[in-house]
Amino acid sequence: MQNKRFPCEIAVWRILPTIRSEIAKQLASLGLPQMVISKRLGITQPAVSQYVTKKRGMTFAVSDEAQTLIQSLAEDVARGKDLNLNERMCEICANVQGNDKCTFESISMKNRLRTLKEENNAVILAHNYQCAEVQDIADYVGDSFELSKIASELDCSTIVFCGVDFMAEIAAILSPEKSILLPVKEAICPMSRMIGRNDVRQLKKRYPEAPVICYVNTSADVKAECDVCCTSANAIKIINELDADRIVFVPDRNLGDYLALKTDKEIISWDGFCPTHQMITLGDVLIKRQEQPDCEIVVHPECRPEVIAAADFVYGTGGMLRHASRSTARHIAIGTEVGMLHRLATQEPSKEFTALTNAICPNMKRTHLEDVIHALEQTKHRVTVPEDVRKDAKKALDKMLEMGV
Ligand code: SF4
Repeated sequence: MQNKRFPCEIAVWRILPTIRSEIAKQLASLGLPQMVISKRLGITQPAVSQYVTKKRGMTFAVSDEAQTLIQSLAEDVARGKDLNLNERMCEICANVQGNDKCTFESISMKNRLRTLKEENNAVILAHNYQCAEVQDIADYVGDSFELSKIASELDCSTIVFCGVDFMAEIAAILSPEKSILLPVKEAICPMSRMIGRNDVRQLKKRYPEAPVICYVNTSADVKAECDVCCTSANAIKIINELDADRIVFVPDRNLGDYLALKTDKEIISWDGFCPTHQMITLGDVLIKRQEQPDCEIVVHPECRPEVIAAADFVYGTGGMLRHASRSTARHIAIGTEVGMLHRLATQEPSKEFTALTNAICPNMKRTHLEDVIHALEQTKHRVTVPEDVRKDAKKALDKMLEMGV
């Protein structure tokens, strides 16, 4: 069988992940739980799951010899043998290339990324919920609006937005002159898809006197139809400053209910929700209280009302970070997407953080290091917003900036 050859710089990021995916599949077929595979291969559990279900990882034919090497490595990993995984994978990579020894050891994915960033005059932004490997290579890590504001202030031509669709759209609304790339096209926010522009038009007809506020987690189309946008951090300030007793809030019913507790105004909420925060239950809070009575519990306002009521503090991701640095608690349990644990642990290494439950947003976890490289290599997937929609959506975002920040 003829070996397929790649230019050397492509080999490392194309072949090594493929070898890793082969090993993950073999370990799964040997019955190892995904959590164990994730630890032994040094990759996230969602990545293991995607490798095993073949939703991720390239496939190309390898020689019988390379296949034997992969199998033997997988068996050693399964036995928990102390081995130099990367070195062994490099050997296999060399074999796939048809070389006697690996000539690519010095070229890491991070070097490749650095070169691509320079070539494209690019900056990488990663949301707090992204995988650790993506957060670690990003130039800026933050919440969606924080990142979009940074994007608009940056002096660069390309922004790689590692997050979900609506975040890249906000960056495209605020910075139309830049090329905004979303590495994985399928990384969408299900909550933002729970309402469309026509739904907002209907709400406006039904409540003509009430201003419509949209959470940043909405499409550009929806933003274009609303009076003002908000984040979980500035929503109350905006609601209280609006000259109206009744407010329509879209699309998150949990955040809407939370805001209603904090204002005397009437809040009419749309019935959307975040499936990830919805996974966190009152039972999780009660169990944590029982297991660790000294633990502080901080949850996101996208959580269910009963979870919010039982928590010690309620903050968006930015607020959680600020709270973590001023809190005297040694142990903090968070009720939000688990990617936040990495961000908190990086910022506050002396404190212990746990998740109330393993709440994973599958869309946030679609992006991996090699996707970021692909995005820059192939200028994909470029996110643009039609000019008429962009102008109207920008009005809602600008109004938020005027009022809320
Ligand atoms: S965590 Fe929830 S709100 Fe955030 S992107 Fe995922 S589904 Fe959307």
